[in-house]
Amino acid sequence: MPPDQCNELEVDVAVIGGGLAGLATAVHLGRRGRRVVCIEARGWPRPAVGESLEFSAPQLLAGLGVDIDIDQGRDRRHLFPKRAVRIVGDNEQFTVWPPAWFARPPIWCSRITFHTDRAELDHHVVGLAIEAGVEILPERVSKVEHDHDVITGLATDRRTRIRASWYIDATGHTRRLFGRALGLDMAVLGQPRAAGWGRYGEPPENHATNLYFPDPTNDDLSWAWEIPLNGSEVSVGVVMSAASMSTMRRRGLQPQRIFARQLATIPRLQRVVDRHPDVELLATTYTPYRYRRPVGPNWLLVGDASAMVDPLTSNGVTSALRHAEQAARTVSQALDDDGLKRRHAWAYRNTAPATVEAIERAIESFLYEPRVRQRLGLRWAVTLYAGTGVITNSLYAKLDPTSGLRSVACAAMLVTSRIWTRIASRAVARRERLPAVVDDYREPGPTAPGTPQATDPDEGTVGASV
Ligand SMILES: Cc1cc2nc3c(=O)[nH]c(=O)nc-3n(C[C@H](O)[C@H](O)[C@H](O)COP(=O)(O)OP(=O)(O)OC[C@H]3O[C@@H](n4cnc5c(N)ncnc54)[C@H](O)[C@@H]3O)c2cc1C
Repeated sequence: MPPDQCNELEVDVAVIGGGLAGLATAVHLGRRGRRVVCIEARGWPRPAVGESLEFSAPQLLAGLGVDIDIDQGRDRRHLFPKRAVRIVGDNEQFTVWPPAWFARPPIWCSRITFHTDRAELDHHVVGLAIEAGVEILPERVSKVEHDHDVITGLATDRRTRIRASWYIDATGHTRRLFGRALGLDMAVLGQPRAAGWGRYGEPPENHATNLYFPDPTNDDLSWAWEIPLNGSEVSVGVVMSAASMSTMRRRGLQPQRIFARQLATIPRLQRVVDRHPDVELLATTYTPYRYRRPVGPNWLLVGDASAMVDPLTSNGVTSALRHAEQAARTVSQALDDDGLKRRHAWAYRNTAPATVEAIERAIESFLYEPRVRQRLGLRWAVTLYAGTGVITNSLYAKLDPTSGLRSVACAAMLVTSRIWTRIASRAVARRERLPAVVDDYREPGPTAPGTPQATDPDEGTVGASV
């Protein structure tokens, strides 16, 4: 191609970013008969983090066309059973899981969920996007052209110019393409944090998401995870405050060494890491946030580009899939109506992105907030967060904002969840410490190998190796 020549592409919807949020949005829109391009700078399969799913995720994955049936010995490489969340503190361990009555009438909420190998899952969803007629453009969007609040076109690093009726930003929390290009206002919901993780060829000890809190009384909460990916591999990671990370870096320590030191405080994880010294550690920094206006006249933000929830909640995948469903509905309506109606913009703003805020405020208030955690103790703090998170997510799934009325009901429920969080956490902060609870943890059965069963969050790159 001559140096001054460009490729021109004209579509109904341009989705920028082929993480789970972008791919899922593209699939839903492609199935609705829209001409969609998904522009992704990196290829697939590639490493991705986000392996522990909460209870709404399976239904959302099924709605996308992902096969979630892992019973009767069927091999599903993208999914692995999740039977508990096991919490290991400095001197206690316990599991959190909704009680059996939660799944019975009249409540009827799900107690079934999975772990997922994200490289496999994302690759699988790329296949669904292609089946849905989505065009994949393996390029990087380098320029967002806009006239005030209206996006007029995109340009890529390989000189493709894209014009679309609608533009969707799914570039994740590290890029936030439209947020930056349009100077959108954001609400910061938590402290800046740093995370490092790796994938280890180690058989899992159980079917649980294992969360370790080596020093739960410390003001600055750091924690680690071990998540089974399949019968022979686990994901291990650690999260700490960006302030602690900076202090250690000022002492001359490299991120790889800092994460290794954190993991060395947890005997099981130290053994796993020591047995695989060559595993490459990936890292990112993040600050939970939400854009106050995630939808404009011809653009919309989805997934982490719209609102980022802390990994401790296991809500990132659910949030990406919820954004995708709601975004596809909103954009399709706008294309049919020849413009976005105010009530549809209101419904988008107050449903999927607002869920992130409700969940994030709960984890910040009950678990990260040192005064509340220290007063409650680890078990009560986790239980209070988990109860609020599970009930909020389950009610959202039941109310399912597919119509105006349902969107209003969802929005009202989310406001109620936030009010409860605020009242309960403030009440706890004023109370005495609660009595200790007797440990009732019992290890699930053995795993048969292969059984399918910043104030400004200017982050590092997701998955950059350190
Ligand atoms: C440490 C950590 C642990 C986590 N653990 C969990 C968990 O246990 N459970 C859970 O549910 N969630 C978890 N999450 C969250 C989860 O990973 C994300 O919410 C989820 O992957 C959705 O991501 P996304 O599609 O919005 O963004 P991303 O996955 O970040 O995708 C963004 C995509 O956009 C592309 N892109 C960026 N800029 C451009 C550009 N200019 N042009 C073209 N393409 C571009 C990128 O290459 C990338 O592929 C975790 C997150 C972190 C950071």
